[in-house]
Amino acid sequence: MEHDHPGFFGRLAAQQAPELLWIGCSDSRVPANQIVDLLPGEVFVHRNIANVVDHADRNCLAVMQYAVGELRVKHIMVVGHYRCGGVRAALEPYRGGLVDDWLAPIRALHQRHRAFFDTCPGGSARWDKLCELNVLEQARSVSQATVVREAWARGENLAVHGWIYSVADGLLRDLEVTVAKPEEANTVFEGRLAQLL
Ligand SMILES: [Zn+2]
Repeated sequence: MEHDHPGFFGRLAAQQAPELLWIGCSDSRVPANQIVDLLPGEVFVHRNIANVVDHADRNCLAVMQYAVGELRVKHIMVVGHYRCGGVRAALEPYRGGLVDDWLAPIRALHQRHRAFFDTCPGGSARWDKLCELNVLEQARSVSQATVVREAWARGENLAVHGWIYSVADGLLRDLEVTVAKPEEANTVFEGRLAQLL
């Protein structure tokens, strides 16, 4: 890196000024920077199992607060992925333990759309669909977070996006739920949900 971009690390050590916050899954196949082809310093990252954005999770909230309030990121991308093991586990019978507790919001999401999932072909179709719905749900959760609402109230330029990555082909897809104003959030998420179900 230093050979191709002399002074790169010196500049990086002085400050970080990323415009993007990536909220993604911990899955080893979904590394943030490599997928969007960005250099160190360009994307602030939060990852957890199945990219859950829970308003009781101080870790995720602190990351969003710092990213929005201090770093002044312009975009928050919630990035799920197909074949997500966390989403898969939420489709299976409850076994107990920390991971299952963590996945409770996804289990609840599945229950909420039970009528749809019961008519959905089994196997990977159901799994993939829940991965997509989970991105919508977590992006909606970001759009409802106090720190995001306050930034919008201040008139800041901040957009929330929902993307999904396929570990099978290396492609990143936009789920088209970009929201940049509080008043458009419900319409965007409900409209897209109706298309996906
Ligand atoms: Zn995953």
